[in-house]
Amino acid sequence: MLVPEGGREDWMKLLRALIAAAVGAACASAQPAPRAPFHLIPGSVVPNRGPDGNSIFLDAPEGLILVDTGRHPEHRDLLLGFARERGRPIAAIVNTHWHLDHTTGNAELRAAYPQAQVYASEAIERAVTGFFVRSRTSTQQALDAGQVPESRRAEIVRGFAAMDNVAALRATRPVTASGETRIAGRRLRVNLARFAATEGDVWLYDPATHVAIVGDLVVGPVPFMDTACAQGWRRALGEIAATPFTTLIPGHGAPMTRADFTAWRAAFDAFVECGQSDRPRADCVAGWRRAAARFIPAGAERMIDGLAGYYVGSRLRAAPEERGRFCEGGPG
Ligand SMILES: [Zn+2]
Repeated sequence: MLVPEGGREDWMKLLRALIAAAVGAACASAQPAPRAPFHLIPGSVVPNRGPDGNSIFLDAPEGLILVDTGRHPEHRDLLLGFARERGRPIAAIVNTHWHLDHTTGNAELRAAYPQAQVYASEAIERAVTGFFVRSRTSTQQALDAGQVPESRRAEIVRGFAAMDNVAALRATRPVTASGETRIAGRRLRVNLARFAATEGDVWLYDPATHVAIVGDLVVGPVPFMDTACAQGWRRALGEIAATPFTTLIPGHGAPMTRADFTAWRAAFDAFVECGQSDRPRADCVAGWRRAAARFIPAGAERMIDGLAGYYVGSRLRAAPEERGRFCEGGPG
C-alpha cells in the first residue's frame, strides 16, 4: 500500500475511506444478488429434426413458473435439471399454444410436479379433432411408405404419444380472456390472442420487469404458419407492440429488444402482404430472407427459404376455405 505524501492527516483520511469501502462491500455482499428476470432454456430449429420451442423459467413466491415444455427428451431433461438445481418445485406451467414443440414435455413434467397448475387456452380441443387427426394420418402414411428416415422415428413415436395423452395438454386453469392474474403468487398479465398462430395463443407480460413472453406469435427465423390465421396474427402483434416491454422472448430464437421486434413485425407484415398478392412466390421468400436476415442463423438459410415458400403456398395463397381454416368460423 502507498502512504500518501501529505502526512498523518491524509493517511487517516485514506484509512477512513478504506474502512468505509470495506464496510460498504460487506453490506453489499450481504444483499442477495439480484435475480435475472427470467431464465431461458433455448429451443432449437435445425434441419431434419422437429424443433423445440424456447422454455422460460420465472421465479414466483410458490415455486417456479415454467413457460412451455419443449419436444425432445434432451430439452425435458434440461427443464427438470434446472428445477432440481434451483431446489424449487415447478408450481405452474404456462403453454403459449398447443404445438407439440411447446407441449410434449407436459406429461413428464406434470408427472414430476403433479401439483403444478397448467395455464393454456382451450384451442387444444379443436386440434384434437382437426390438426391431430390430419397430422397423424399423413405421418402414418409416410411411415407405411418407408419415407421416414430411421433417425426421425423416435421423435414421431413421442409425438404420437403426446397426441394420445390429451389430458396432459389440457389446462387446469384455462385462459379464456386477457387480464392480470397471479400465477404461483406472482402478478402477471396473461393475454389471449384468438385466431393468430393457433386458435388461441397465450402470451405473458410481466409489468415488474417489462419482459414479454410471446410464444410463436414471434418466431425469429420464420413465422411457423401451419395453423395460422394471418389477420388475427397481425392483430396480436399490434397488441404486443402496445405493451411497454423492453425485452421480448420469442417462441424460437434469441430474446429481442423492442427495435428487434419492430423489425421482425415489419418483415412479417411484408411477408403476409406479398404472400397474399400475385407477386412470384420467390419474391416473397427473398423478401423474408432480406428483411429477417438478422434473425436467421447462419447455415439455416436454405431450410428457412423452404419453410417460407411452403407457407406462402399452403396458407397465404391457398384456396379461400383453406386460407381461413384456422380463422374464426373456419373448420380448424
Ligand atoms: Zn414453436
